[in-house]
Amino acid sequence: MFANLSDRLTASFKQLRGKGRLSEADIDATVSEIRRALLEADVALPVVRAFAANVRERAKSAEVSAALNPGQQVIKIVNAELVEILGGEARDLRFAKNPPTVIMLAGLQGAGKTTLAGKLGRWLRDQGHTPLLVAADLQRPNAVTQLQVVGERAGVPVWAPEPGNGVGDPVGVARSGIQHAHDKQYSVVVVDTAGRLGVDAEMMQQAADIRDAVSPDEILFVLDAMIGQDAVTTANAFAEGVGFSGVVLTKLDGDARGGAALSVRGVTGKPVMFASTGEKLTDFERFHADRMASRILD
Ligand code: GDP
Repeated sequence: MFANLSDRLTASFKQLRGKGRLSEADIDATVSEIRRALLEADVALPVVRAFAANVRERAKSAEVSAALNPGQQVIKIVNAELVEILGGEARDLRFAKNPPTVIMLAGLQGAGKTTLAGKLGRWLRDQGHTPLLVAADLQRPNAVTQLQVVGERAGVPVWAPEPGNGVGDPVGVARSGIQHAHDKQYSVVVVDTAGRLGVDAEMMQQAADIRDAVSPDEILFVLDAMIGQDAVTTANAFAEGVGFSGVVLTKLDGDARGGAALSVRGVTGKPVMFASTGEKLTDFERFHADRMASRILD
């Protein structure tokens, strides 16, 4: 995902090779290069600005180090800043004191919510929880079947609409799913919701209605890292229309420019909690800012 950005950054560091120490001009030239590289990678402008200003500041006040040459010194600073904008240490999921914990997924159609429900279900099960997946996406014709298939693969049961528990009514399905979880003592409920290809008021309202019906402990905004600059508008629309407590980045295995991944924390102020890196159930991990930064600077 970050091949271009990595190359550009590496090239800007190379220019510092052979220099005895960092001059102000070197720092300015390198920061300009970094700025251009980030903008080209579709990182949101306010995030780029803050990043560049911080790198400049740190580079100018950096102690002359005997152990590091100027290039290495700048790499260290850029690495620290990357970790910072990516959100530092990931926080853990918040679990309810009285189970079940309710995790609601929200995001555009195609973002990877249904796939994520399976991955999260499997991950939760592996952590010793007893998860239940709830199919409250009744918009896409085969979303329910898709969740059932994913659930089966993950070894996690799925609550799907049937006569009597809310056919055609996503809020009813979500509510009856939570009731079922109470009755059968599931410890975590993952609620899959409908998305549209673009942000629209009806979809937001439906997600907000489901939220109000199930009182989630976590609302995870699922964001396709391939959508480039649209990520910022989409994230803002969901923040306003539904609200969310954390972000999941999907399709980090893609070859798009990846600015979304780098901007979302800075733009929304919410932590990126998980990363999805492929279509298989196992292509899923906790998000670690430091690992991501190292991958970019590799
Ligand atoms: P939803 O509409 O938000 O529920 O999205 P889906 O879960 O149906 O995912 C849309 C498509 O993206 C499917 O073809 C998934 O297999 C694919 N997908 C989901 N997550 C990833 C990922 O991390 N990497 C890749 N390459 N594909 C993914």
